Amino acid sequence: MMNHVLIAGAGPVGLVAANCLADAGIPVTVFEAEPRLPENLRASTFQPPTLDLLSQFGASRRLIEMGRIARRMQYRDRSGWVAEFDFDVLADVTGHPYRVQCEQFRLNGVLAERLARLPQARIEFSSAVVGVEQGADGVSLTVDGPAGRRAVTGSWLIGADGGRSRVREALGIPLEGYTWPERFLVASTRFEFADVIPGLSDVSYFADPEEWFFLLRVVGVWRAMFPTTAEEQDADILSDDGIERRLQRVWPKAGRYEIVHRTLYPVHQRVAATYRKGRAFLAGDAAHLNNPLGGMGMNGGIHDAFSLAGALARVARGETDAAALDRYERQRRPVALEYVNTISAANKRNLESRDPEHQRRWREEMSRAASDPRLAREYLLKVSMIASLRKAADAA
Ligand SMILES: Cc1cc2nc3c(=O)[nH]c(=O)nc-3n(C[C@H](O)[C@H](O)[C@H](O)COP(=O)(O)OP(=O)(O)OC[C@H]3O[C@@H](n4cnc5c(N)ncnc54)[C@H](O)[C@@H]3O)c2cc1C
Repeated sequence: MMNHVLIAGAGPVGLVAANCLADAGIPVTVFEAEPRLPENLRASTFQPPTLDLLSQFGASRRLIEMGRIARRMQYRDRSGWVAEFDFDVLADVTGHPYRVQCEQFRLNGVLAERLARLPQARIEFSSAVVGVEQGADGVSLTVDGPAGRRAVTGSWLIGADGGRSRVREALGIPLEGYTWPERFLVASTRFEFADVIPGLSDVSYFADPEEWFFLLRVVGVWRAMFPTTAEEQDADILSDDGIERRLQRVWPKAGRYEIVHRTLYPVHQRVAATYRKGRAFLAGDAAHLNNPLGGMGMNGGIHDAFSLAGALARVARGETDAAALDRYERQRRPVALEYVNTISAANKRNLESRDPEHQRRWREEMSRAASDPRLAREYLLKVSMIASLRKAADAA
C-alpha cells in the first residue's frame, strides 16, 4: 500500500506516532509483541512541553484527571537543606506550567483507545517484529503473529520497540554509550511522607553521599527510588527486609512500611549511532536510554515521535520531498546526547557525590538558582525539556 507506515511497538512512542500519522490521514499499522497493552509500572512524569504536545489528542486533560499536578520540585539533603523550584515561572511559555505525575500505561490506554476510533489505523497484538528488509520503494517486515510467521510490506518503518529493539538489531545499528554498574530500585508505599517531612513537594530529590534517594508522588502512593550496589543480590534488594531498611533511612518510623510495588532495573546512558537507515527509523527507547533522574526518557521519546511522525506525514502527503526526513536525526539525536544524557548523568553525580567540595558547590548553585527568578527560569527551561525542543526546532 502506498505510504503505509509500519510501527514496531505499542509503547508511548509508537502510539503517539500512530496517532499523529492517522490524524494526518496516513494509513498506519502498529505491531505489538504482547497480547495486550503492558501495564507494568515504569515512567510516571509528564513534562510541561510533552503535555502541550499531547493536548492535540485530548490526552493531557485525561492524564491530569487520572494523575497529580506537581507545581514544585525540590532538591534536599538529610540536614534539612531545600532548594525549591516552582514551574509557574514558565507560565508564559507553556500551557502546562507543572509536571503531571501519572503512570505511563495510562497514557498508552488513552492513545490506543483514540487510535481504535481512527479508520486508517490498526494495532495488531501478539505480533512481534522479528525481521526487517528494505528496498528503494518500501520495507518488508517479518512478523510472528497469532496465525504464524508472515511478511508485511509498507512504505516506512518506525522502530519504537523499546530498549532491546529488534528493529535496531535487524538494522545493525549499535547503541553506543555505557551501562551504570548499579541498578535502581523503585518501591511504592502508601505511607504519607508529606505528613512527616515538612513542605515536601511531589517531586523531591535527596542528595546523600551514603545513599541518595528520590521521592515521587502518584495517585495513592509515593514511589521511592534508590541506587543499589553491584555486590548486592537481587533477592536481598527486593526482599521485604531489604526495602524496609532503605525506607527506614528515608524516614525512620515505628512499625514496617507497607510496600505495594517493587522493581529493580538496569540503568544506561546510551544513544543509537544513527536514527535512520533507509526507510527505517528509530524512536524512543529504541534510539536512546538514560537514567530516570529527571524524568526525561519517556518524554524525549514522545518528542521524537511527534517530530518523526510529523515529517513522515508531510512526505507521505507530498508536501515535501523525502530528503526532509534526514532532519529528524539532526533534530533529535543531538538532544539525546547533549541534553537528556548530560542532564540525567549530572543529576545522578550531584545526588551521589561523596566529595564535600562538589556537594557544597552544587548546593550553593541550586540555592542561588532557586532564589533568583531569572536563574530559576533558565534552569526549569532546561529540566522541563523546553530548551531541548527549542534546540531541535532550530536544527536545519
Ligand atoms: C522497568 C522500567 C522502569 C522504568 N522507570 C522509569 C521511571 O521511573 N522514570 C522514567 O522516566 N523512565 C522510566 N523508564 C523508562 C521509560 O519507561 C521509557 O523511556 C519509555 O517506556 C519509552 O517508551 P517506548 O515507547 O520507546 O518504549 P516501551 O515503552 O518499552 O514500548 C515498547 C513496546 O514495544 C513492544 N515490543 C518490544 N519488542 C517488540 C517487537 N520485536 N515487536 C513488536 N513489539 C515489540 C513492547 O512490548 C512494548 O509495548 C523505565 C523503564 C523500565 C524498563
